[in-house]
Amino acid sequence: MPSTAFDTPAKRFGIVDCNNFYASCERIFAPHLIGKPVVVLSNNDGCIIARSNEAKALGIGMGMAYFKSKQLLKKHDVAVFSSNYALYGDLSNRVMTVLATFAPRIEVYSIDEAFLDFEGFDRWDLDSYGREICGTTQQWTGIPVSIGIGSTKTLAKLANRLSKKMPGLNGVFDFSSCEDQAALLSAVAVGDIWGVGRRWADRLQRESINTALDLQQCDPAMIKKRFNVVLARTVQELNGVSCIELETVQADRQQVLCSRSFGVRVTEAKDMRHAITHFMTRAAEKLRKQKLLATVLSVHVSTSPFDDRNEYYSNAATRRLIVPTDDTRELTRLAQRLLKGIYVDGHSYQRAGVMLTELVNHRNQQTDLFDDNTNAERSKELMMVLDSINSQMGNSTLHLAGEGFGGAWRMKQLLRSPRYTTRAGELRVVR
Ligand SMILES: [Mg+2]
Repeated sequence: MPSTAFDTPAKRFGIVDCNNFYASCERIFAPHLIGKPVVVLSNNDGCIIARSNEAKALGIGMGMAYFKSKQLLKKHDVAVFSSNYALYGDLSNRVMTVLATFAPRIEVYSIDEAFLDFEGFDRWDLDSYGREICGTTQQWTGIPVSIGIGSTKTLAKLANRLSKKMPGLNGVFDFSSCEDQAALLSAVAVGDIWGVGRRWADRLQRESINTALDLQQCDPAMIKKRFNVVLARTVQELNGVSCIELETVQADRQQVLCSRSFGVRVTEAKDMRHAITHFMTRAAEKLRKQKLLATVLSVHVSTSPFDDRNEYYSNAATRRLIVPTDDTRELTRLAQRLLKGIYVDGHSYQRAGVMLTELVNHRNQQTDLFDDNTNAERSKELMMVLDSINSQMGNSTLHLAGEGFGGAWRMKQLLRSPRYTTRAGELRVVR
């Protein structure tokens, strides 16, 4: 059939990714580091969680322990930063604001990535539009970004990956414009496809499905039967059939953050433990409300950066769970363990918080082969009871003993920052 002006517009997606985001953020306020190796640390073990390209070229690995790489970092005069989540969050907002001007709809996918909706843009030269987006974002925010474009989200992600690896592309690649798509797909390992986790990659490889091309050529019905419907969708998406829509509503689904400044400085370990339990409880509630499970948990603490009398201290610790969970008790136990590693006596803490990332839908949970499922069922029931009582009778009617009762940090905090507009349990009562 000849195409007419009344055809349904073809789908096109763009994914914009900030290059080495945390390292790029640090450089904005330290321009002398442009072109120099930079790493950002996290974790009580001092893991490296972000690297500039120069640092990558030195062979500094992602997740490398800080104490193990100290000599290497020193030898090459690498600039080392502790993570500054307040800064990264703010710069992320600025990047997203700029990106939103380039497409009718955007999905903020993570702190440093957003999908753009280019539906109906198929007559445009998306390659030069992509260049314009990257140029403007860098000019207005200082953050370098790259963009991948494709007829599905999965292909856009793949194009973005290639845009950074293939010389000459300079961070912009439209997969639809490519002539030899099979050659490109055969160069991508199956585990590097968006949405294919490590477990699935292992299983696929055992069946000799090694590359994106191999997976593209699979029968979706077979994949649905032998794996599941999510992976079958990925096969369709690799074939240019868009199955995964832009999600503009749940912009925050990639992380749940509960972090606050204290009304009065916290100087006792006991108070900090209570505060962390409180934050974790709120974060786990948010998680369950959105029917999500968390895979990675971070805890952070810091003193005030504007206090000239005392030394500034800030630290964070992160752990990956074997099985994603939304159980307050389990998350709190882990949070307390992480806190122990970063809490140093003698500081006046001004801020602390918890962050849950790598969130998965509770229906798509990949359970641990060795995990006891009866436990999971019991935990689900208990959490349901907890949520229903707290939603009817007010937050913290039922809470873990580890949250404590009262506590200076909490009383002052509630007086200073009433949450009338965001907490149903703290609504004003009019009689
Ligand atoms: Mg990035």
